[in-house]
Amino acid sequence: MKIDEARNYHKIDAVIVGAGLAGLRAALEVAKSGLTAAVISKVYPTRSHSGGAQGGIAAALANAAEDSPQMHMFDTIKGSDYLADQDIIELFVNEAIKTVYEFEHMGVPFSRTEDGRINQRAFGGHSSPRACFAQDVTGHVLLHTLYEQCLKHNVFFFNEFQVLSLLLENDVARGLVAWDIRAGGLHIFHARAVLLATGGYGRAWKVTSNAHANTGDGVGLVLEAGLPLEDMEFVQFHPTGLYKHGILLSEAARGEGAYIVNDQGERFMKKYAASKMELAPRDIVSRSEQTEINEGRGIGGKDYVYLDLRHLGKEKILQRLPQIYDLALNYLKVDAVKEPVPIQPTAHYSMGGIPANARTEVIKDAKGTVVRGLYTAGEASCLSLHGANRLGCNSLQDAATFGRIAGIRMGECCRENAYSDLPAEPLAKAQAKIDRLKQAPGKEKHAPIREELQVNMTKYMGVFRNEGDMGKMKAIIKQLQERYRMVAIDDHGAAFNLDLIEALELENLLSFSEVIVEGALARKESRGAHFRTDFPKREDGQWLKHTLAWRRDGKIVLDFSKGVVIFPQYQPQERKY
Ligand SMILES: Cc1cc2nc3c(=O)[nH]c(=O)nc-3n(C[C@H](O)[C@H](O)[C@H](O)COP(=O)(O)OP(=O)(O)OC[C@H]3O[C@@H](n4cnc5c(N)ncnc54)[C@H](O)[C@@H]3O)c2cc1C
Repeated sequence: MKIDEARNYHKIDAVIVGAGLAGLRAALEVAKSGLTAAVISKVYPTRSHSGGAQGGIAAALANAAEDSPQMHMFDTIKGSDYLADQDIIELFVNEAIKTVYEFEHMGVPFSRTEDGRINQRAFGGHSSPRACFAQDVTGHVLLHTLYEQCLKHNVFFFNEFQVLSLLLENDVARGLVAWDIRAGGLHIFHARAVLLATGGYGRAWKVTSNAHANTGDGVGLVLEAGLPLEDMEFVQFHPTGLYKHGILLSEAARGEGAYIVNDQGERFMKKYAASKMELAPRDIVSRSEQTEINEGRGIGGKDYVYLDLRHLGKEKILQRLPQIYDLALNYLKVDAVKEPVPIQPTAHYSMGGIPANARTEVIKDAKGTVVRGLYTAGEASCLSLHGANRLGCNSLQDAATFGRIAGIRMGECCRENAYSDLPAEPLAKAQAKIDRLKQAPGKEKHAPIREELQVNMTKYMGVFRNEGDMGKMKAIIKQLQERYRMVAIDDHGAAFNLDLIEALELENLLSFSEVIVEGALARKESRGAHFRTDFPKREDGQWLKHTLAWRRDGKIVLDFSKGVVIFPQYQPQERKY
């Protein structure tokens, strides 16, 4: 690696944006192959959102009951409401097993069965106990183990660096520009391969389980670079968010046997998914819960229901679900051993994202034309593995498996291609963003605009949607984008300028939120997590296709010519649980 610190210029084979599970897994693969890999992360690596994942990582190990990759495949297809690409799922379920054993060999302390094998628990929409777990801190142990491995293999880390622009020319990635949050200043990263593993975009909502860093910067950068996003209207609402906070109480609680009950103490899931009950897929449980609330059967007629763990007993709760117990106690002062916990749906997972093929190469159109040297993996990507609704525990697996694949492919790319020249003015775009925020004469502040966006996204773009609400949201976003042009920051300092950082994030939030709304307005059907009360049926004849969206001349342009990959043996059926 050549670093000329005076010019803040870094020449590195593979540059990886994001230190979550996807980014670290890719970096490890590149570094192990003898190439230089650098990870850029706006938060310290082990604070990446992956560390907050609780319940488990899915793989058909068959340690707790009969299971197979084929069963995993069918569950994932059905869970996706048939929008997922089945070739991607086939690759995923086969690689998943290897991914878990790799983690075991790296030293991940998985919870064990009596006879010493990796233990597995039940999770929503899975027909067999398939979630490999470490208590309810699975993401934490996976992330820490991977970080150690990356350090061992000399991955370079640029912690607390925020990427502000991609360096792309003639459909070839050449690197990127990032702002040093700690010291201030822009840095150029010149690379042969770039991975976007920036995580999800749940922070567009007020009530969300997502970390503060999940502001969709990766999807924002891709839009800005003139590339499309895919299936952005599909955002998962998790049924067990801690009331008002949105903080997640993992599905692991229901996997261990917890109930969800309404004001009458009724386990209402028996009306909506009689055989799977609380372990139906999340889109179904969230809709059922919201229906109970909307029809006045929330607790005391309010906008929440209860997650009841009491019958599991103190020992099981504290042994298997200690984090869930702590969260309820610390945030709501509810002792889950003795009392039921107030919950509501919370914006949780981004099924849509940056379109890519099975090799994790970013594509720029419905024909699958590749942008050379640009890759994506994890929640920022849309391969499309999860379709219209992700099954629990499939996303840690997605991040790790496709992170590994991305690392392999980036290595190949680096070996096959010399460094391409940087654009003539590599810093120009990033510098212009900063200058504008420092010099703007406007009186607007970024915080109230972000708040207005989040509150209204929760109000109008939630579990149930309709034309009128979404039309209102579209108009609100347009107004907020206008106001954003007048945003000025007060802090002109260099070090830890959070005023600047948050203003820059807001540009991304406003940009991709418009894509979500436009895609949701255009898709006149209900599928998976996208449920329209004005079009309540799934319409396979017309809508069994992906949404691609570009920003062109300030407007969102949609294209529906990218079909869904469906194998003859897995034709769409009615989804019953
Ligand atoms: C509370 C919670 C619990 C969950 N539990 C489970 C579970 O049990 N099982 C499961 O399968 N899934 C679970 N999920 C989902 C899963 O955790 C995520 O989908 C997955 O961890 C995403 O990993 P990632 O590597 O794509 O992104 P993340 O872990 O979100 O990492 C994103 C990275 O990108 C960096 N970044 C972002 N923007 C920039 C920028 N502009 N510049 C530089 N760096 C940037 C961040 O610093 C961070 O390092 C859970 C999700 C939540 C919210």
